[in-house]
Amino acid sequence: MRTSLNIDVNKWPDLWQAAYRVIEQEVVPTKLQAWIQPLEMAGVEESASGMRVQLVAANKFTADWVRDNYRQVLESAFTRATGAKCEVAISFKEAGQDSANEAGEAGQVNSSYQPPIEDPLDRSIEVSSNTDSGSGQFNDRGRRQSDSKLDNRYIFNNFVVGASNQFAHASCVAVAENPARQYNPLFLFGPPGLGKTHLLHAIGNHLLMRNPNARVAYLSAEGFVNDLIDSLQHKKMPQFRTKYRDSYDMILIDDIQFLAGKKSSEEEFFHTFNALHGSKRQIVVSSDRPPKEIEGLEERIRTRFEWGLIADIAPPEIETRIAILKAKAERDDIYLPDDVATFLATHIKSNVRELEGVLIRLQAQASLTGAEISLEMAKHELKTAIPEEGSHFTAEAIQAAVVKHFRIRVQDLKSMNRSRNIAMPRQIAMYLMRKYTSMGYKEIGAYFGGKDHSTILYGCAQIEKKLESDSQIRDAVEAIQNLL
Ligand code: ADP
Ligand code: MG
Repeated sequence: MRTSLNIDVNKWPDLWQAAYRVIEQEVVPTKLQAWIQPLEMAGVEESASGMRVQLVAANKFTADWVRDNYRQVLESAFTRATGAKCEVAISFKEAGQDSANEAGEAGQVNSSYQPPIEDPLDRSIEVSSNTDSGSGQFNDRGRRQSDSKLDNRYIFNNFVVGASNQFAHASCVAVAENPARQYNPLFLFGPPGLGKTHLLHAIGNHLLMRNPNARVAYLSAEGFVNDLIDSLQHKKMPQFRTKYRDSYDMILIDDIQFLAGKKSSEEEFFHTFNALHGSKRQIVVSSDRPPKEIEGLEERIRTRFEWGLIADIAPPEIETRIAILKAKAERDDIYLPDDVATFLATHIKSNVRELEGVLIRLQAQASLTGAEISLEMAKHELKTAIPEEGSHFTAEAIQAAVVKHFRIRVQDLKSMNRSRNIAMPRQIAMYLMRKYTSMGYKEIGAYFGGKDHSTILYGCAQIEKKLESDSQIRDAVEAIQNLL
């Protein structure tokens, strides 16, 4: 069948592309990227009134959302593209049927997509190149700067979307667009360095952009605990309660796993949650693992997390890693040749923060030496950061090398001793075991006198973070790797 526009409807990609070009005119990039782009076209058939287009979303959540919000836009786009009256049906893939996504196909499409910066909303926030973190102040419109603690460098527009984070990204956009409607709380989880904090800030920034008077707070669970301790000490609990329970329309709390096992903090958080949720205000939390795996978290809090939407973030696929590197390079005006981007993305797989760190170090080196970033330079830089192809060591060998380097004993690694001269080598041993063995966090814990999952995860994350900034730690890790 040929339509008036001469599109062969048997060629779905052509038809999808034609419709997509129409939709692009009508939907802002953030939403386009979150909702429309990940859709796949599964078929087209003639119907009594015209045509029926089958679209497939990655999951039920996305399918429902698209049906509720974009069906008309889609139908009119297909109608315009084909010249025939089109109906659109949106289904979703069953769990486990995600082959295209998992193979990275969808990731490739998504990640290679560079949203044109024309979203009138997103553009109103200035992306500051200022790198000292924390202040996060808005520099326009006199927004509520002091209490929001939002970092305006983290917005949806500079978050690269691929199959691994598409669902999390879409959930965050949904919540930022329609707070406290369907998805309250939103629980975001995934390993360190994959963009949870970025997304939390992006939700807040997006909401403020749409509504500059919205009252949004971003804080870490640790910040909540410290504030609580301080308020208890200074007899300021009424103020504390008013602040968290009554003064915000939306609260974004990062690294909520930190609350686990802290009784009074959990108690306070429980009531805060109830007050916010009960009065239809949005709560978003992030964690390094799903609610049911947060050991020691009170059951009643866990249950509440499960009331809402739970979205996970997995390490990005290679295409997304390359896209992230290129986006960062472009943003910071760094010349990054393709072969270097591919090399870095091939070797650094599980942490975007690490990927950024290497890029920054390469840039520093390039400007120091006056040479351009090259493959040679990248290989040299990564020598200490990545294991040789196929290298593998036993847990015992790693512990032996660590204790030899630091002149301590294996018993020290397994002990509870928290002094720095023991704790730091212990964390390095954890980090190297994670890197050079295939053991999970729990298994590694068994080699350290039965420490739990979160202790190991924390230890590894600490070293990963310090490797970027602390040359002493980098030297130690390098020396131990040489011993191995
Ligand atoms: P997490 O909170 O999960 O540990 P962060 O949000 O701190 O991770 O992310 C670490 C760094 O990586 C940040 O600078 C963030 O901007 C960047 N990052 C992570 N994922 C992405 C992505 N998909 N696109 C762009 N930048 C990303
Ligand atoms: Mg974080």
